[in-house]
Amino acid sequence: MLQNEQRTEINQLGEFGLIDHLKGKVKLHNESTKIGIGDDAAVVDLQGDVVLSTDMMIEGVHFDLMYVPLKHLGYKAVVTNLSDICAMNTLPSHITVSLGLSNRFSVEAVEELYAGINLACERYQVDLVGGDTTSNPNGLIISVTAFGKAAENTVERKGAKENELLVVSGDLGGAYMGLQLLEREKLVFKETPSVQPDLGGNDYILERQLKPEARVDVVIQLNNLGVVPTSMIDISDGLASELFHLCSQSDLGCAIYEDKLPIDPTTYQTARDFDLDPTMCALNGGEDYELLFTIKQADFDKLKNLPDFTVIGHMTDKNSGLNLVTKNELVHPITAQGWNHFTDDSDKEAGASD
Ligand code: ADP
Ligand code: MG
Repeated sequence: MLQNEQRTEINQLGEFGLIDHLKGKVKLHNESTKIGIGDDAAVVDLQGDVVLSTDMMIEGVHFDLMYVPLKHLGYKAVVTNLSDICAMNTLPSHITVSLGLSNRFSVEAVEELYAGINLACERYQVDLVGGDTTSNPNGLIISVTAFGKAAENTVERKGAKENELLVVSGDLGGAYMGLQLLEREKLVFKETPSVQPDLGGNDYILERQLKPEARVDVVIQLNNLGVVPTSMIDISDGLASELFHLCSQSDLGCAIYEDKLPIDPTTYQTARDFDLDPTMCALNGGEDYELLFTIKQADFDKLKNLPDFTVIGHMTDKNSGLNLVTKNELVHPITAQGWNHFTDDSDKEAGASD
């Protein structure tokens, strides 16, 4: 939270004053936006099917304001929703943002949050066209709805066929290791507030946790390559968990190869420093917001030399289940651990999967 700086109470402006104030900083980028913030509803002309998704983030469940700057939180809340639209092979164009605010929040704090929201809107050329603002004594709630005009070929979680290739964009486990680092420094700070956090040299994984990006570029790239995935999902809860969704909805199993999993060297080294298995972090760490999808074997040549894509395995028949082939060529069944917000912190560890 902002300290030792100007503090304007929200009730000085009132709800309408606050909304007006925020509206003044919102820029629109799309001609399709006919009516934005300020009326009873927004009007958007998308000329076709709309792909729409919503997500809620709650203080103490999805984020900790002790180490997440409000600007980053605003950015991340938008990006995670844009990622869901991307996972349908569609480009997002609009969002709405709803807030539950306690009186701990000043106008300046809400401005910080919106600086992040506006930055994401600018970066992704998305228009903020409405929302809702209400008080909530228990802390901050931020809910974002994103939508966009459906692509010609929307892609669902179902649709994969046996022997098709499993592809992942970017790399995995980084956001989880960033979280481990932040949690560790928070503990150190609680015990000895005079010690400054030691976060040096870890920019990559901290960014993966605090400032994730939605893979709009991947959707565009696939389109340019003429590749339509046969099924797709974004990796918010962890690779293992998303594989379960793809497999169960496509009524198949899969085999993935440990030595193919894309893991950044910083992620790998930090996992080792924390005595964690980098493979388990890639499988079970959440919040990478990469895309996981299946392609026909015939499309392999179009992707094989592109650094953004890694083929990690293939789809198998349902009865074989989901398996990880280890570096020593042992076959381990994969269990979906995901990222369970309903259990306590000790269960968040990326544990062994067997
Ligand atoms: P209503 O009472 O009709 O729901 P509101 O007073 O809640 O209207 O909202 C007025 C306008 O401000 C609407 O256009 C709404 O979409 C927009 N709005 C309200 N809260 C937010 C917010 N947190 N972010 C963006 N727009 C908002
Ligand atoms: Mg309202």
